[in-house]
Amino acid sequence: MLSRMIYHSENISGGLEGKMMGDLNKIMQASVRNNERDGITGALLFDPIWFVQILEGEREAISATLRRIMPDPRHDAVTVMDCAPIESRLFGNWWMGVANMNVHTALLAQHGLGPRLDPRRMTGAATLALAVDVARAGLNRQVAAAA
Ligand code: FAD
Repeated sequence: MLSRMIYHSENISGGLEGKMMGDLNKIMQASVRNNERDGITGALLFDPIWFVQILEGEREAISATLRRIMPDPRHDAVTVMDCAPIESRLFGNWWMGVANMNVHTALLAQHGLGPRLDPRRMTGAATLALAVDVARAGLNRQVAAAA
């Protein structure tokens, strides 16, 4: 059954330079490789404190991916925000697209979620609406140096 899952977690990769950017690019390489194999699409929003990820695909494939992601030492406190069957994908062009939310403060404000990303006070629906607008503004396949 085609489904979409949204979770947030604490980014414990460090600051916006060096290690975190290197970690994120390694995560993106593994994600694109594995997600293409498993028919998973989605988006990974991040800042120095949080990750928010949307995974779309067959429910079993999403669960298998989440089982790999949860124990990853580069983040902590994985918290599922939403999981439900869907008719169609919203991120079908992306095995995994990534966006640095520090460059999307205007979108956060437009969605009434600013000035900084705080997924603890966001619903799954609000997160999805934000991620769709972030994707319209442009997701990336790699993490660039922070703006
Ligand atoms: P490899 O990439 O070969 O890695 C082997 C093992 O080493 C894994 O256990 C991995 O966790 C660990 N590892 C590799 N590099 C590091 C490092 N720099 N520091 C610590 N441990 C490391 N994976 C997906 O497949 N799809 C996703 O959508 C996805 N999203 C993610 C989102 C977040 C926020 C995080 C933190 C990770 C995500 N990952 C994702 C990565 C996932 O946690 C696994 O690392 C990955 O799926 C393992 O891929 P692999 O089996 O090909 O192993």
